[in-house]
Amino acid sequence: MKAALLRAFGAPLTWEDVDTPRPGADDVLIQVMACGTDGTDLKLLDGFGYRPELPFIMGHEPAGLITEVGASVRDFHVGDRVISYNFFHCGRCRNCRRGREQICPYLDRILGVRGVPGGYADYLCLPASQAVSIPKGIPWEDAAVLCDAGCTAYHAVDRARVKLGETVVIFGVGGVGSFAVQFAKLAGARVIAIEQSDKKARWAEDLGVDVALDATSVDVGTELRQLTEGWGADCVIDIVGREETLTLGVDLLCNGGRLVIVGYTPDHYSLSGKHFAQNELEVIGTRCGRRRDLDQAAQLLAQGRVKSIVTERYPLSDVNAAHQRLQSGEVLGRLVLDVPQRPPSTPA
Ligand SMILES: [Zn+2]
Repeated sequence: MKAALLRAFGAPLTWEDVDTPRPGADDVLIQVMACGTDGTDLKLLDGFGYRPELPFIMGHEPAGLITEVGASVRDFHVGDRVISYNFFHCGRCRNCRRGREQICPYLDRILGVRGVPGGYADYLCLPASQAVSIPKGIPWEDAAVLCDAGCTAYHAVDRARVKLGETVVIFGVGGVGSFAVQFAKLAGARVIAIEQSDKKARWAEDLGVDVALDATSVDVGTELRQLTEGWGADCVIDIVGREETLTLGVDLLCNGGRLVIVGYTPDHYSLSGKHFAQNELEVIGTRCGRRRDLDQAAQLLAQGRVKSIVTERYPLSDVNAAHQRLQSGEVLGRLVLDVPQRPPSTPA
């Protein structure tokens, strides 16, 4: 099969012939039909954060068709359409048993990120226990981006405990943010999106937010005070994670407010214990999502209750051009790699 190999950090991927993986007894073999790309891929390319052993096949948002199943697999069949739950957790520790598998302390492999080859290839092999069926009616490219963007956004909004009528501020309307603003709207909040360009603020409006602010042209603090009659936001969901957004996020909260940290950078933020204690502020970290978050996000997409976040498609073989495009920061929502000659996404 063909695959894009990461052979050296800081260098482009190389499109090569490699052996097609062979499924073991508990595995399924998946023909990749689409694979999302995001900032995690750019970090992997640079060797920032996760540093998989090389050579490595990236791609943590794959969607595809099962072409072979192992002898012990009972719940999937050839021809099934699936996406992946990417976190290879132990299934036995306290967190796994409590249904918080993505913070399993023994989690050492993440599909397309570390230890398990991902979707930048014609085929990938996955334990059947990590495969998730794609509900009917979801096109390949929209299914693909559920693996990370959809799952992460659903979990973040769930962790945020968003309630009917609350004001929720969301920093960053990229892939995760494009789903998060829609999930927060569905939860009944007034959603205020903050972006760094007029074009991205307009994109947030297209997704149905109540107010979109371009932070390069307005003072976000002043605008938010006006919008909330001086009260502040009940919840801030930070999908950027820079020192400026964390600092501003805390400033925007009303007393009793919640800061939810989804995105991160190498930045640190110095916290005033007094300010947090006296105003009963909460800080909530959130990491990708649980398997059930992925299922829920997929259901909402299948029901047509959230819009597609995919705005650009590149052939899988043009992955380096796609990464360059992603690096430009101009992509709205999500860019997806796909296979031009693929079968229809929704079989009759
Ligand atoms: Zn575990």
